[in-house]
Amino acid sequence: MTQQVPLLINGEMIQSQSEQWLPVTNPATQEVIAQVPCATDAEVEQAVEAAKVAFETWKETPVGERARLMLRYQHLLKENHDEIATLLAQETGKTFEDAKGDVWRGIEVVEHACNIASLSMGETVENVARKIDCYSITQPLGVCVGITPFNFPAMIPLWMFPMAIACGNTFVLKPSEQDPLTPMRLAELFQEAGAPAGLLQVVHGTKDAVNQLLTHKDTPAISFVGSVAVGEHIYRTGTDKMKRVQAFAGAKNHMVIMPDAAKNQVVNSIAGASVGAAGQRCMAISVAVFVGKSREWIPEVRDALAKVRPGAWNDPEAGYGPQINPQAKEKVLGFIQQGKDAGADCILDGSDVVVEGYPDGNWVGPTMFRGVTTDMSIYQQEIFGPVLIALEVETLEEAIELINNNPYGNGTSMFTSSGAAARKYQHEIKVGQVGINVPVPVPLPMFSFTGWRKSFYGDQHAYGKQAVRFYTETKTVTARWFEDDIDTGVNTSINLK
Ligand code: NAD
Repeated sequence: MTQQVPLLINGEMIQSQSEQWLPVTNPATQEVIAQVPCATDAEVEQAVEAAKVAFETWKETPVGERARLMLRYQHLLKENHDEIATLLAQETGKTFEDAKGDVWRGIEVVEHACNIASLSMGETVENVARKIDCYSITQPLGVCVGITPFNFPAMIPLWMFPMAIACGNTFVLKPSEQDPLTPMRLAELFQEAGAPAGLLQVVHGTKDAVNQLLTHKDTPAISFVGSVAVGEHIYRTGTDKMKRVQAFAGAKNHMVIMPDAAKNQVVNSIAGASVGAAGQRCMAISVAVFVGKSREWIPEVRDALAKVRPGAWNDPEAGYGPQINPQAKEKVLGFIQQGKDAGADCILDGSDVVVEGYPDGNWVGPTMFRGVTTDMSIYQQEIFGPVLIALEVETLEEAIELINNNPYGNGTSMFTSSGAAARKYQHEIKVGQVGINVPVPVPLPMFSFTGWRKSFYGDQHAYGKQAVRFYTETKTVTARWFEDDIDTGVNTSINLK
């Protein structure tokens, strides 16, 4: 019988009583590798309740103890790194190298969470008034919820629960139903690291489970990563319920290529950043903006892309894997057709790619368009496939205007050898993460992941110092201790005397 994915509630891996189960498939073969339940309302309720009870003890647990749990967890994740990456590669189709990156970028956040003591320090000012001191302390919120997408089943859950729990909260994770095996393995290792029962629960399902968690009276903070439509729903509903919400959404990331850039670096960087992970990264480069004479490199970029070939996760020569499911493949092929129908020039067409030995995989070959205008759907919408659009402009100013007019603001990069051009770009661009001669500028966890505009709804971002602000309340204490009980009279003003 196929493996049935359990729920994690109150420290126990339990079998769901649900009557609704979904297949988890290997996207290179369509083989069903597991069945995942849509947790029942009662199971979701149990998960929140277990987290609520555990919070009462965990919030009183010394910060050093919380940090030591993260240290043990980091150690276990490192020990099991390749095994997690293998599981991840099988259920997502990512190449083994890329799957290792997914796990590693998550481990880095756990390392960051080990610093929770210094990260959660408050501020103190002595003598804000005569013999009166003022200081702030940070306190956890309660049961925090995480809803995660399919495309980083290790890294994105690890953006969330280690930081939330290190801050003293407890957590309910609802991972993507498309690749739940990796998050379950992460949860298992968290238990093995010594997490007390109830600290982390994992429930499975789709929109019903999400909506129950989102509107529950006992879940004050919601972290979401996924598509724009769902992100908007999460942000609107959660804030309507007066919760704090951080919702990371879709993207359309541009790379600007100046004529003075290092050409080989440009060509290799565009190829890797556009089709890596089959374009299924929120930081993938999907638009290359060639400025002035750099347009002469378009044929070389096309040739570099043509050499990258998709393949199975354990094929060391494969550049990337399949789309996550047949519907995702159809969607990408639909966009390619729309581009052609709209009159764009498809200079590399991966629609009919064949991967030997894997006739049923959701393959799309590297694809590139030029002659695209900004009113075309292939420019306006997130394709989330290995499709690169080349635009051509005359000046850096034009490139900046073009990108600032695009509604998304997740990531961008520019390649140049001019410090002045790079400085102008980083200053004027309305995008939250900028790479200068770096194609995919995902910040390391001492910083935060800072998407802007339609790519992020909320105020505080993931990991870094901002995650601590998101997962805690600040309490500010103003204190005076009397040496003598002198009668200073009644003070009816707001001034401290
Ligand atoms: P998705 O929005 O379909 O699903 C994300 C999560 O929401 C899943 O757990 C899913 O079960 C749940 N969900 C789906 N439909 C729902 C609904 N109607 N109501 C409530 N919950 C629902 O996203 P996906 O396809 O898994 O992931 C790809 C998307 O995520 C892309 O748009 C990508 O750009 C985005 N993404 C963004 C970032 C970022 O940091 N900005 C990072 C990774 C992925």
